Amino acid sequence: MSVSDTLDRPVRDLRISVTDRCNFRCTYCMPKEIFNREYEFLARDALLSFEEIDRVARSFVRHGVRKLRLTGGEPLLRRGIEDLVAMLAVIPDVEDLTLTTNGVLLERRARDLAAAGLRRVTVSLDSMDDGVFMAMNDVGFPVQGVLDGIAVAAEAGLGPIKINMVVKRGVNDGSIIDMAQHFKGSGHIVRFIEYMDVGATNGWCLDDVVPARAIVETLDREFGIEPVDPSYRGEVAQRWRYRDGTGEVGVIASVTEPFCGDCTRARLSAEGVVYTCLFATHGTDLRDVLRATPSDEPLDEAVHRLWTSRTDRYSEIRSSRTVQLTKVEMSYIGG
Ligand code: SAM
Repeated sequence: MSVSDTLDRPVRDLRISVTDRCNFRCTYCMPKEIFNREYEFLARDALLSFEEIDRVARSFVRHGVRKLRLTGGEPLLRRGIEDLVAMLAVIPDVEDLTLTTNGVLLERRARDLAAAGLRRVTVSLDSMDDGVFMAMNDVGFPVQGVLDGIAVAAEAGLGPIKINMVVKRGVNDGSIIDMAQHFKGSGHIVRFIEYMDVGATNGWCLDDVVPARAIVETLDREFGIEPVDPSYRGEVAQRWRYRDGTGEVGVIASVTEPFCGDCTRARLSAEGVVYTCLFATHGTDLRDVLRATPSDEPLDEAVHRLWTSRTDRYSEIRSSRTVQLTKVEMSYIGG
């Protein structure tokens, strides 16, 4: 069965957050002033078990999902994540199973993740410059540690690897060319992401956003790039390739060129709340439904209801009023 929402968008991707904890304190995502010792992270028994996550994933697959992505917080902090990967990897009809990570634990874990059935990884890396990167992750973690993780993941067959760089004006926009240069010709795909107004703690303002158009111009001037057709409906990144044939880059323009009309993504929080928009203020709690009965019928009904009643298109109606709404944090829902 494939279901569509009120704007005729099918559900194709499920992003599964497995923890709200992270070993980075990126200033634009989990600023230390808020995510400190006093911050109340989710309690262990509030988290969905792997069996519960598997049930939700299977229900979404019955409704049309074909791609699963594990995220967080930092997903590699969730103990035994390889076991969850192994469970999700055998769900029939899943065409892609991937994971987004900051890369810190990847060097140690990539082989086991691949052996468990993970197909690919996306690694976040905001600069090639240690000073800039350490200031952004705010725990002093060096670039080389992430590069080592990427190398092991590539050897383990988790490629083509996507490298996500969030671009914030005046902070790391000077790293765009270095980042592209480093991965040009490697087979990995760098994606430059417009800094978004997710959550309510990062003090976002429009002046901090470097528009995707400007990023493309910078890359074109330096390397020469040309557009590539999207590979499927709902692909978030606009694809570009180097004219000299040395690979591809992407830009994600969720602020300046919103793509709500093609958004086919649902997001499951670590405690079982489903959000149908990254910028949502409310979600649908499935944990009680899951724990009330081992039967999947009520779960399927809830998933059907939440998707068929979906109306959101936040990025298309973003305004000074919507920016001030108390939205869920990126570290809670996973991006
Ligand atoms: N810990 C993992 C990681 O670092 O990739 C997964 C979770 S993290 C929240 C997912 C992605 O969201 C990262 O690439 C991060 O840079 C991005 N992100 C966080 N806050 C953002 C914001 N305000 N705008 C754009 N991207 C953001």
